Amino acid sequence: MILGIDLGTTNSLVGVFDAGFVTLIADEAGQRLTPSVVHYPDHGEPLVGKPASRMRVLSPERTVFSVKRFMGRRVGEEPADMPYHFSGAPGTPIQLALGDLRLSPEQVSAEILRKLKADAERALGTSVQQAVVTVPAYFNDAQRSATKRAGELAGLEVVRILNEPTAAALAYGMDRQEEHTRIAVYDLGGGTFDISILELTGGVFHVLATNGNTRLGGDDIDAALVRHLEAASGCVVSEPAARARLLEAAVAAKHRLSEAEETVVSLPFLGEGVSSTEVTLSRATLEKIALPWVEKTRAHCLRALADANLEPESIQELIMVGGSTRMPLVQRFAGEIFGRTPNCSRNPDEAVAEGAALQAAILEGTLNQVVLLDVTPLSLGIETFGGLMNVILPRNSTIPCKAGEMFTNALAGQRSMLIRVLQGERERANDNWELGRFEIPFQALPKGQARVGVQFEIDADGILTVLARDTATAHEQVVKMASAVEVSDEAVEKMLEDALENAFDDMNARAFTEAKLKAEEMLPSVEKALARAGSRLPAEERASIESCAAEVREALKHEAAAPLKKAVTALDAATQTLAALVVELAMQR
Ligand code: AMP
Repeated sequence: MILGIDLGTTNSLVGVFDAGFVTLIADEAGQRLTPSVVHYPDHGEPLVGKPASRMRVLSPERTVFSVKRFMGRRVGEEPADMPYHFSGAPGTPIQLALGDLRLSPEQVSAEILRKLKADAERALGTSVQQAVVTVPAYFNDAQRSATKRAGELAGLEVVRILNEPTAAALAYGMDRQEEHTRIAVYDLGGGTFDISILELTGGVFHVLATNGNTRLGGDDIDAALVRHLEAASGCVVSEPAARARLLEAAVAAKHRLSEAEETVVSLPFLGEGVSSTEVTLSRATLEKIALPWVEKTRAHCLRALADANLEPESIQELIMVGGSTRMPLVQRFAGEIFGRTPNCSRNPDEAVAEGAALQAAILEGTLNQVVLLDVTPLSLGIETFGGLMNVILPRNSTIPCKAGEMFTNALAGQRSMLIRVLQGERERANDNWELGRFEIPFQALPKGQARVGVQFEIDADGILTVLARDTATAHEQVVKMASAVEVSDEAVEKMLEDALENAFDDMNARAFTEAKLKAEEMLPSVEKALARAGSRLPAEERASIESCAAEVREALKHEAAAPLKKAVTALDAATQTLAALVVELAMQR
């Protein structure tokens, strides 16, 4: 089993794909989001997640948060305004100095990964050695390698480093979109904003551009809201524990206002000399407070579009990731920039982890089957009169599925029919792939009178079963074909390309064959009718029929559909009176 891990700046998550679904794993406290915080006590094992988060206030000097910002960085490249001491010579990998402890960012991240691994193993009841870990699309080699090393330190082989926007796009099912779909992934979390423009080509997401701000997110809105609450309640809170409670109340109110229009914030124990108070906060007020921060994302979006050489109109999908995109203001704002309604159908905190778990399942081979089995990659059908492809199950049919059609004999007295099972998008049978063939016998009957039903059925495992039945005798033949869905992506792509490239010729071939079948049916019956009733027609009408028939014969010699169709239509028109005469004679008889 391979784990999917979203190793986030603020929060991390772990998921697995199991029995057809992604399950995000909760820890012993029932929490799926693990704060990416590690506390190193003076003695004993490090604390990770929620318990470490609580220590941020009490023991900030031994508590590490936002370690992701330091991954793969060297001394001299450390992010500004972080309350950490670093050690090491300039140009060497960064070490965090926590008292006398020296820690590499990988070691800290490894503690988080170790906890996620342990949570997963407890929940799954089995040990796990491999993981897919996500990183921002803009992470360089050093940052990616550091992430891999963190995995190794935690006892996990990182089998794939996956870009976060790609993971989100997978979670949103964007891999099922049409080729060349362009997707904007708008990711506003707690402390970071990322905008990525992806394009789906050959079933793979390509990052066309990324932009963002590593110091912009919900935290900024929280801080601004705290200032507002202080001003509204008339108290200035300086004691750290009270500030922490005020912040907690502000964050909770912000979350409530993503649903409600108004909320009451109770600020009970803000410290000595400060009485309990309540502040009513409306969504409109919160939006006014948040707008300057949200507004900052615009420039990054425009920059990413410009870098990708695209206009907002060329984006087909806008997907929302990160907890802060739950705010209606953020959804409206992103929608306005890209001129489309954002897709918020996934849980924005969990989309990246979900995508990582899906990628893990693809690598395991578990999901491959599911994705491939989901729809038929190419059309399935049989060869019919004139060597044409007769589609029974069109491409992209959701499986399991079943469809059938009735066929008849092309020749009088025919005793059997060859069922050639074909796969592909070309009009001519021979240009498609043959999956198999078999004969179905039937009673000899005049042309067009035999009735053979052919049914295609694909089961949930992708196995195609073809059934052919002579309806007169109920004699039937059932043949199982190999999998109808296990076709390589390249082969499918080649088939689709060929079909597109030859579309004109193929259509002409089909039209010609259809007209030819009609001509070959008409010519002998016109001859028969002329012999039977021709003498009753005026000489010039007979001559006209004969010249029309000659034109049809001539057109049959060339492979062009249009002249043949025209000649057949003319012959049909010229023989109207003759046809009526034949009917009249028959009735008289
Ligand atoms: P993330 O970094 O993706 O985990 O996002 C965390 C950020 O999302 C924090 O700033 C949260 O306050 C914010 N957030 C989570 N849920 C909501 C919500 N319902 N409404 C507004 N912001 C939220």
